[in-house]
Amino acid sequence: MSTEKKHTGHIGVTTDNIFPIIKKFLYSDHEIFLRELVSNAVDASQKMKTFASVGEFKGELGDLSVRVTLENDTIKISDRGIGMSSEEIDKYINQIAFSGANDFLDKYKDDANAIIGHFGLGFYSSFMVAKKVEIITKSYKDSPAMKWSCDGSPEYTLEETTKEDRGTDIILYIDEESKEFLEKSRIETLLKKYCRFLPVPIVFGKKSEWKDGKSEETDEDNVINETNPLWTRKPADLTKEDYIEFYKSLYPMSEDPLFWIHLNVDYPFELTGILYFPKIKNSIDLQKNKIQLYSNQVFVTDSVEGIVPEFLTLLHGVIDSPDIPLNVSRSYLQSDGNVKKISNHITKKVADRLEEIFKNDRPQFEEKWDSLKIFVAYGMLSDDKFYERADNFALLQNVDKKLFTFEEYKTLITENQTDKDGNLIYLYTSDTKGQYTYIEAAQKMAYDVLLLDGQLDAHYVGKLEQTFEKSRFVRVDSDVVSKLIPKTDGQEVKLTEEERNTLIEAFKKAIPTIEKTDFIIAFEHLGENSLPASITQNEFMRRMMDMSATQGGGMSFYGEMPSSYNLVVNLDNPLVKKIQENTEGSDDSIKQIVYLSLLSKGMLEGQALSEFVNHSLSKI
Ligand code: ADP
Repeated sequence: MSTEKKHTGHIGVTTDNIFPIIKKFLYSDHEIFLRELVSNAVDASQKMKTFASVGEFKGELGDLSVRVTLENDTIKISDRGIGMSSEEIDKYINQIAFSGANDFLDKYKDDANAIIGHFGLGFYSSFMVAKKVEIITKSYKDSPAMKWSCDGSPEYTLEETTKEDRGTDIILYIDEESKEFLEKSRIETLLKKYCRFLPVPIVFGKKSEWKDGKSEETDEDNVINETNPLWTRKPADLTKEDYIEFYKSLYPMSEDPLFWIHLNVDYPFELTGILYFPKIKNSIDLQKNKIQLYSNQVFVTDSVEGIVPEFLTLLHGVIDSPDIPLNVSRSYLQSDGNVKKISNHITKKVADRLEEIFKNDRPQFEEKWDSLKIFVAYGMLSDDKFYERADNFALLQNVDKKLFTFEEYKTLITENQTDKDGNLIYLYTSDTKGQYTYIEAAQKMAYDVLLLDGQLDAHYVGKLEQTFEKSRFVRVDSDVVSKLIPKTDGQEVKLTEEERNTLIEAFKKAIPTIEKTDFIIAFEHLGENSLPASITQNEFMRRMMDMSATQGGGMSFYGEMPSSYNLVVNLDNPLVKKIQENTEGSDDSIKQIVYLSLLSKGMLEGQALSEFVNHSLSKI
């Protein structure tokens, strides 16, 4: 080859030197160079297939696999794709549009994806790890093979070379600081991460040669990827086992998923994927960042926040869309129109699927409700559109484990649980053991009690109350049972001022000190068969307390206040009547009554509990 044919030039960037920038700013994500280079090789190979299919290329396609090899201190990525002519190298490699660079870099200096995307720097990301890069390429069209070489300065050389086969070799001379990328296991791990589902075979091996268009090494073990991953195939061709097997290949240690949605949209955006509903046994199983995002089968990220609605990040699976702008910053993503459409679409599909299962197979839906409910509740809390849809299939569970739709439940309780002002009262418990006596009392009145003991249920209750008309949610222990659902104006308490004060004094004395807890003593006529006294906590008060606890306790206004409870004394109870007759001499009985009411509320512990035990023993 004559030296006249060799020429040198300046890479067309407007900032002085792009390479220090690449090295300096793109530090954290160095590994993505491999994703970029292998994707380019795959694109070039895919184009070859396209050209052959439209008749633009008439020769033999041969083996189109992409080969990645480690030799001495180099990484080589070779393809038998379309290659590049000298002009194409000039156009695609040498000219980098690079305006407004400094501003942009300043803003996104920690986000390699954004920088690479913004400047179309896919190929140049190789300089994050290489001190010198060579491109040896031969176009599928009849033009001489070319060798481009650049050592990390804006200077490059371009000269003719010899290359038998069409396609491109990219050779990276790995720099000192990036030696880790010369380790076989590191490269293999990266290929498995980014290239696992690429559409042409990626072979990682010792040799980069193809013989007669066939790769020399046929050792199956070296093929990294699965070229037709499940989500790219037609749902009609797939069995239940296929979906489960794919799920297990993505999440090896997981239990079988509950069900899945195969997404397939091509207008107004392209999107494919499979979303799985995982089995959730308890909150520890809640795992975000399990959905993998792909772009044309290239792995991009497993943190999909901003792309799918927050509540859907609890799902697992794969989303593949070339229409999600991948090489941009997260904050940009959230405002992108396509991303919003995609996100809405996914929400709709998920709602469709849930409704379909509910309608066609309610027993199956109910069986899975335990795992589904946190997900549905989360969705209803965070997304009004989803709420509207879920209104049809969201279920309420009562303490007898029976499940009802909102409509069914309303019908069930309307007659017996409407208060004197026409409000429908939904009674619920957050703890079937701790609130046992209260539940029992409510059930004796033929009230139904809902079980709302989930992580999100405190918020969920608020949301349902807002949406249901003329309805209130009342926890079973928030008042004495006869006042949970006030149906008449109630019986006036018949006590003189003096009688009242004497009783208050006597009961107050009997209450043990409990840290940060106050008691108000109240009197009611609750019938002779009801308990002599019980502890309640006003619904509103309790919600305030709960709220301040979740907002960091002592910091907030309510956190400073002690919890306030009512000790409700039943004036109809025979024991209380006896006490009234001889309040002076009833200290022991009063003490026992107070202790027992604390005990059934689950509030007796520590010193108070020990006092109670001793007090009881002394009476035997
Ligand atoms: P992008 O891939 O985003 O266009 P790159 O910097 O990675 O940006 O590549 C620039 C261009 O160089 C590609 O669009 C393609 O035309 C060409 N190119 C890169 N690698 C190859 C290759 N292996 N074979 C053929 N052409 C390539």
